Amino acid sequence: MPTTLRFDRSSEATPRDPHRTGCPFHDVRAMLRDVGLRPTRQRLGVGWLSSRKGDRHITAEILHDEASRARVPVSLATVYNTLHQFTEVGLLREFAVDGSKTYFDTNVHEHHHYFVEGDNEVLDIPGEVNMAEMPQVPAGYEVARVDVIVRLRRKD
Ligand SMILES: [Zn+2]
Repeated sequence: MPTTLRFDRSSEATPRDPHRTGCPFHDVRAMLRDVGLRPTRQRLGVGWLSSRKGDRHITAEILHDEASRARVPVSLATVYNTLHQFTEVGLLREFAVDGSKTYFDTNVHEHHHYFVEGDNEVLDIPGEVNMAEMPQVPAGYEVARVDVIVRLRRKD
C-alpha cells in the first residue's frame, strides 16, 4: 500500500504525477525537488522519518531518537536545522508549547491543538475553533496566523 505523505500537499499533486511512485524515498525526493531543496542524504532521512507515520507532531529530539533507532546517521543539530529548513519552505509548521518545546507539524493546513499536560502529547483539534472576538491589531499590522493551544489534563 502506498504511503500517504501529507508533505506532498495532495491538493496540488495528482495521483498520476510521474514523480510520485508510492515509494517513500522517491516521494520525499520529489517533495524536496518541488520546494527547491537539494535532496541531500540528511534531508531525505529527516523527510522520510517525519512523514512515514502520517500526520505527526514531532520535536527534533523525538526525530533524532527515531533516526538513531532506524540507523539514519544524523546529528541532533542537523535534524534541528533540517526541520527549520522544511518549515521555511512550507513543508512543516512550527509551534511552541511551554516556550521551550518546539514542535513541528507535518499537517501544514490551518488547525489548532490540544496539549495534554503530563503526557506532553499534542493532538489536533478537529474542526474550527470559534474565536469570539479578535483583538484590534495595532495600526500598520495584520494578523499573520493564530495558534490556539488548549491545555488538557486528565481528570482524577
Ligand atoms: Zn497539528
